[in-house]
Amino acid sequence: MGKKRAQFLPYALPFIEQEEIDEVIGTLKSGWLSTGPKVRQFEEEFQQLTGAKHAIAVNSCTAALFLALKARGIGAGDEVITTPLTFCATANTIIHTGAAPVFVDIDPATLNLDAEKIEAAITPHTKAIVPVHFAGQSCDMDRILAIAKKYDLFVLEDAAHALYTTYHGQPVGSIGDATAFSFYATKNLATGEGGMLTTNDDALAARIRRLALHGMSKGAWNRYGEKGTWYYEVEEPGYKMNMFDVQASLGLVQLNRLDDMQARREQIAKAYNQAFQKEAGLILPPVHQDGRHAWHLYVLQVNPKEAFITRDELIDQLQKEYKIGTSVHFIPVHLHPYYQETYHYSPEDFPESLAYYKQTLSLPLYPSMTDEDVQDVITAVLSILKEQRASS
Ligand SMILES: *Cc1c(COP(=O)(O)O)cnc(C)c1O
Repeated sequence: MGKKRAQFLPYALPFIEQEEIDEVIGTLKSGWLSTGPKVRQFEEEFQQLTGAKHAIAVNSCTAALFLALKARGIGAGDEVITTPLTFCATANTIIHTGAAPVFVDIDPATLNLDAEKIEAAITPHTKAIVPVHFAGQSCDMDRILAIAKKYDLFVLEDAAHALYTTYHGQPVGSIGDATAFSFYATKNLATGEGGMLTTNDDALAARIRRLALHGMSKGAWNRYGEKGTWYYEVEEPGYKMNMFDVQASLGLVQLNRLDDMQARREQIAKAYNQAFQKEAGLILPPVHQDGRHAWHLYVLQVNPKEAFITRDELIDQLQKEYKIGTSVHFIPVHLHPYYQETYHYSPEDFPESLAYYKQTLSLPLYPSMTDEDVQDVITAVLSILKEQRASS
């Protein structure tokens, strides 16, 4: 039996330091509470980081995904291809436009959408592909972009895990037609809630910006400023999905710290890999050589043939015996009741996603973890496996 923690280690914790607190207070005192100069600055810095021509800050990644599909004109009667191994928002937003999600299974070697299987899912109604860079590693973008070109499809990347990720040296955010990022509390850069849409397409960017703020003509955000004007025009019935300055101030501080936060994530992932690599009952997260891994998630699989424990039992013992929180990424979207009832999916329709889902768990991985926290997780996992082996 390994040493037990006195205090529960949560699966995720945001990394908020004095700098963020000072910056937020500064913004609160500035007189700008809604979308203002901090949002503009955050967009500019994000644009530089990703190399994209445009960066549009919104109130979530979900909003960014939805607005990009809407701005591209995707709607009723259309089909959009994506992976079942993602958060429900990726597929929900397709439905919100009126289109139907069409799932393509993952490649178990990368856990990303299997590019080999995309063409078989394309019909005359297919309008877009939404690849998800799972856990922080890029999809096979060369293959995906080649298919998109052949069939004239829009490529919208879900990069909720992939800030800092590169593909063949190029930062995610400047590769496909549009890319959506998340700054949700558990993500690598966190503003609590928040998202960003990047694109190199001028017309698409202009329409997304307009749709995010009621469909009002440009300059609308600054209509209360010194150089602003009270006059605006509504060009189409838009939504209310803009980011506000308090969120952007958090984002600006975290952008400055991104390299350090990423280095710590990598350190923790390495420590886990080293500790678990010789354990026959465990399968390490796949790592491919196409680019930089953002290590948003550390997904460990319980090897069904070699472990004397199930994934569910491991999660349970980690929580109850060792006070360590974990999570599961993801319950494949096609397993959710709405998707089963509406699209008549059966669990076996995507066998790779299903098999992976049954044996995966995500371990705590965040920059504010101490070395002791990391060691506690390692000790707990190894002790549980050893005990199970001994008693089997
Ligand atoms: C977190 C997440 C989202 C949604 O992000 P929000 O900013 O919370 O809207 C979308 N897709 C994936 C893969 C995610 O992990």
